[in-house]
Amino acid sequence: KKQESMRHYMVFSDSLQARLHKETRVENGLHRALLNDEFELHYQPIVSLDDYSIHGVEALIRWRLPDGNLLMPDDFIEEANRVGLIGDLGLWVLESACKQLRQWLDHGIQLSMSINVSPRHLRQAGFEEIVKEVVQKYQIPAGCLMLELTEEVFVDSGIASLYALTEIRKAGVGIAIDDFGTGYSSMRYLKSLPIDRIKIDRCFVSAHSDDSLSDPMITQAIVFLAEGLGLDLVAEGVETSSQALELAKQGCHKGQGYLFSKPQPQDVIFEMLKQKKLL
Ligand code: C2E
Ligand code: CA
Ligand code: CA
Ligand code: CA
Repeated sequence: KKQESMRHYMVFSDSLQARLHKETRVENGLHRALLNDEFELHYQPIVSLDDYSIHGVEALIRWRLPDGNLLMPDDFIEEANRVGLIGDLGLWVLESACKQLRQWLDHGIQLSMSINVSPRHLRQAGFEEIVKEVVQKYQIPAGCLMLELTEEVFVDSGIASLYALTEIRKAGVGIAIDDFGTGYSSMRYLKSLPIDRIKIDRCFVSAHSDDSLSDPMITQAIVFLAEGLGLDLVAEGVETSSQALELAKQGCHKGQGYLFSKPQPQDVIFEMLKQKKLL
């Protein structure tokens, strides 16, 4: 008996050590990566479900390691948060996305750019001032930039965050609630929040088992909610044409997902943007 628990302990401790080792690597690496400019943004189109024209893109961060490997945000965002680098990373994203948006606008491409903002970054003092400065610097027109935030921001961030969001909207930057339906949003909050868009979480849209909507009751309810509150609506995780069709029938007219395109590097998305239409 004792031997067995000893063995379990060693297995546990081995994997813990491996994890700790990986975490320190990631932490040291994050500092280096910021200095060496190892991050890149990939872009996924946000598409009209009526005619498949491209309405905008969402910028999604990736980390290009010196050995050429690509790390996905789930591999390092949490760590960046833990070691206090999420603000620096967020600034890099904001700046890079706006710089890119300016280039595309200069090419005569009309589109909106969505970026993800972590709750901790939003809560940093002066966040709204920095957003305003970057918008000024790149002359981003009103309605062309949108910040995506998860529901937790609206539930427990308090008055300072609400003030920041209100200021940001005054500068012509939109606010979206990301992963809607998975957090703790209460209807009461929703009505008074300074927001422009809801993004239906992909768990209600696609399931691996089926081509149709994974939760049509929920998506329909969110459509009614968005209509009632006068909010723009985007469905995430659209993977099949029957999901796109069902959503449009329910009254959701924008979608994002592998059906249209995976997130793409800048040169690939530029070609798609010039075509304007997908499929
Ligand atoms: P998110 O904001 O919900 O982004 C959507 C994620 O779903 C992306 O994963 C995207 O590649 C994936 N996706 C898109 N369409 C489909 C689909 O049809 N099916 C499926 N199964 N997945 C789809 P990604 O790029 O790995 O990003 C994961 C999360 O990391 C994001 O979720 C976001 O929360 C976070 N993230 C990404 N970029 C940033 C960033 O620049 N800053 C911060 N703070 N967080 C970021
Ligand atoms: Ca997002
Ligand atoms: Ca999402
Ligand atoms: Ca998510």
